[in-house]
Amino acid sequence: MSQQFDIAVIGAGPAGQIAAIAMARGGRRVVLIGPEPDGSDRRTTALMDQSLTMIERLGLWQDLKARAAPLQVMQIIDGTKRLLRAPTVAFRSAEIGLDAFGYNVPNAALIERLSKAVAEEGLITRKPLSAETIHVGRDAVIVGLGGGETVTADFVIGADGRRSKTRESAGVGVKTWSYPQTAVVMNFTHSLPHQNISTEFHTESGPFTQVPLPGLRSSLVWVVAPQEAERLTGLTSEELSLEVEGRMQSMLGKVTVEDGGQSWPLSGMTATRYGQGRVAFIGEAGHAFPPIGAQGLNLSLRDIAALEEILIDPSSASIPGDSGDRFDRKRRLDIASRTASVDLLNRSLLSGLLPVQMLRAAGLQVLASVAPLRNLVMQEGVAPGRGLKSLPSLLRKKVGRQ
Ligand SMILES: Cc1cc2nc3c(=O)[nH]c(=O)nc-3n(C[C@H](O)[C@H](O)[C@H](O)COP(=O)(O)OP(=O)(O)OC[C@H]3O[C@@H](n4cnc5c(N)ncnc54)[C@H](O)[C@@H]3O)c2cc1C
Repeated sequence: MSQQFDIAVIGAGPAGQIAAIAMARGGRRVVLIGPEPDGSDRRTTALMDQSLTMIERLGLWQDLKARAAPLQVMQIIDGTKRLLRAPTVAFRSAEIGLDAFGYNVPNAALIERLSKAVAEEGLITRKPLSAETIHVGRDAVIVGLGGGETVTADFVIGADGRRSKTRESAGVGVKTWSYPQTAVVMNFTHSLPHQNISTEFHTESGPFTQVPLPGLRSSLVWVVAPQEAERLTGLTSEELSLEVEGRMQSMLGKVTVEDGGQSWPLSGMTATRYGQGRVAFIGEAGHAFPPIGAQGLNLSLRDIAALEEILIDPSSASIPGDSGDRFDRKRRLDIASRTASVDLLNRSLLSGLLPVQMLRAAGLQVLASVAPLRNLVMQEGVAPGRGLKSLPSLLRKKVGRQ
């Protein structure tokens, strides 16, 4: 006999686990299907202020905070050797009245905390198996698991990553594009304090981004050509440490890389729809792009917030059959605008064309010197819509050079 739930979540990565916890906290009976992530992910995630509010509301932040570092200043340094170089731009959270833009959290710590919360949540049934078949019908969803078991739900949330079986089973296509880039990620200790400053060097191959971790530690996302990624991951720890220190012009003193580098080839993808009928696709099942400006999981948390509004209704036990369509309409603009801006910034770095370089340098020059515009960009970075809402008052303020 098939077990019956309100919501089936497919995929137990960060997006799936947070979605399952949010839905259960809202009173829905949830089945979370998917193998447990193996803890080998050395990436860290910069969770911005709006995402942290959600993580805190779900009761997950207290245990995580000690393993995360605040991001109080984010600076962009033009590390290209091009004719037209942009000025250094520094964004300070205090300028928009925040103690920090967000916190940098190791993915392994995040997953560990989420798995614990899932295990403790009475309304979540955990099935650590792959979904083999997903049938999205007019009145219900039936998921077949490895081992022949089936579960039935009113609604399915596909959080099963880029090659989402949920999306494929619903017959929804994707638009994909590639970048000639691989992100090499690593964590390192350094002899000088980072002062909660994250520095993004823009280089001809892509960004080189140092992000603070607690104590004298930082994480690094170094975007390079695939052959260069192979070379870097083949270096000894000592050789890699010297290369990183050299790239950072020793601004954090002596660097010691921990555990070597890990490669993540970059590509872009967006689903042609983010939901329909009784299904929605969240996280990388719906959208994926290069790690510039710490957008990916933050965007996924906004997917989950939208699902909370649509699927959690204490006055109604059932879930309407058009919930996926409502989700699609609600999420289009935010996902399209984030995907386009990350793509544009990434391509402007890669392009050797002088007019593109002029635009990029001019854009950063304007940001460096026009406080209200920098303020708007910062507000939009931590919580989309927040900056635009305060645009009229920002425009009333004197536009001053700093
Ligand atoms: C180098 C790098 C740095 C990044 N830095 C940041 C950052 O600072 N800030 C930020 O917001 N984002 C960042 N991102 C993006 C962020 O890491 C991703 O958005 C996020 O990890 C994706 O999570 P997910 O849960 O959507 O997908 P995944 O982590 O891919 O999880 C999908 C899960 O689904 C499971 N699955 C697949 N098929 C099935 C099936 N048939 N049945 C059951 N389960 C299935 C898989 O086993 C997996 O566990 C970064 C990305 C990269 C590459």
